[in-house]
Amino acid sequence: MTIRIGVIGTGSIGREHIERVTRRTSGAVISAVTDIDRALAEKAAGEAGGARVCADGAELIASADVDAVLVTSWGPTHAEHVLGAVAAGKPVLCEKPLATTAEDCLAVMAAEEAYGRRLVQVGFMRRYDTGYRELKRIISGGGIGRALMMHCAHRNRAVPDAYTTDMAVQDSGVHEIDAARWLLNDEIVSVQVIVPRSTSRRFEHLADPQFILFETADGVRIDLEVFVNCQYGYDIQCEAIGEKGLIRLPDPARAQLRAAARIGTAIDQEWDDRFSAAFDAELQAWVDSAAAGRATGPSAWDGYAATAVSVAAVRAQRSGGVEQVEMVDKPAFYA
Ligand code: NAP
Repeated sequence: MTIRIGVIGTGSIGREHIERVTRRTSGAVISAVTDIDRALAEKAAGEAGGARVCADGAELIASADVDAVLVTSWGPTHAEHVLGAVAAGKPVLCEKPLATTAEDCLAVMAAEEAYGRRLVQVGFMRRYDTGYRELKRIISGGGIGRALMMHCAHRNRAVPDAYTTDMAVQDSGVHEIDAARWLLNDEIVSVQVIVPRSTSRRFEHLADPQFILFETADGVRIDLEVFVNCQYGYDIQCEAIGEKGLIRLPDPARAQLRAAARIGTAIDQEWDDRFSAAFDAELQAWVDSAAAGRATGPSAWDGYAATAVSVAAVRAQRSGGVEQVEMVDKPAFYA
């Protein structure tokens, strides 16, 4: 069976996913696209091999030739499109964040529960990365014993000047928030943000780097360094320490070069290079589950939890104190 996918938002990641579905995913085609910028949507439609261009997300979701929906517009528009897809009974992969407010995430969860089965997958693609999956397998299998601490780093070479202090949590750190919850099978209950001396390479409106300190319900402490103008590359680090051992995310496998009296390996420069294989695996898993009319992988509950933690972290950036994460109890539907 071939799934016909409609894509809402044909900007940077939307076009990448279109390319991914068209060239590297089996069992799916792009049948329709839409973007506020019609010219961009038309270009993407051509790249997708002649998909239809719809006037807006609502028209795309209602289309008979769209079996499943990929939401890659920008964050504040996600909830509207995901709610539309659920109302139409169509599986939907929504790029992070599921929604920018906890209330909108709760609305998505309520709609999905009312529908009666999972249709929503959230784009936390690190869960499909080989290294993270190895960490998950070993931590879940008791390989480090009871987890006590985690150290994480999220470093980008540089960011555009539209990048603001809160995006360090909402756009960048949100990946570590989801990864930590998933790896530890635990919820984050409080967060504090500490801003050290800033790099001179940042913009005036951006605090960079930032230390984000989390505590989980089970008492695990997590420190996350977000440093988005580190200059040298895109560098993701994750280390979990338990009672009987320590496990560290492997660096991507790169050939080692010995030359000019040095030994070295290349460092990825951008996130889409570092996680390209994870995105491929994520899209294939989504297509396979959509073919069965359901969703697997990161759920609307995971999207809600990540947004709830992000909201508290933005509060913590402003207050400088420890902020509690406000979350409802996990519904049995997401057990
Ligand atoms: P982008 O390049 O700005 O693309 C978003 C596109 O969506 C733009 O063309 C935008 O048009 C369009 N758009 C906005 N509202 C729309 C609506 N209601 N209907 C149709 N089109 C709409 O942004 P991006 O970098 O691709 O990011 C898109 C989303 O993916 C964000 O939520 C981002 O956080 C997420 N993302 C995730 C990852 C990851 O690692 N998983 C990586 C990158 C991005 P205008 O520009 O005219 O507003």
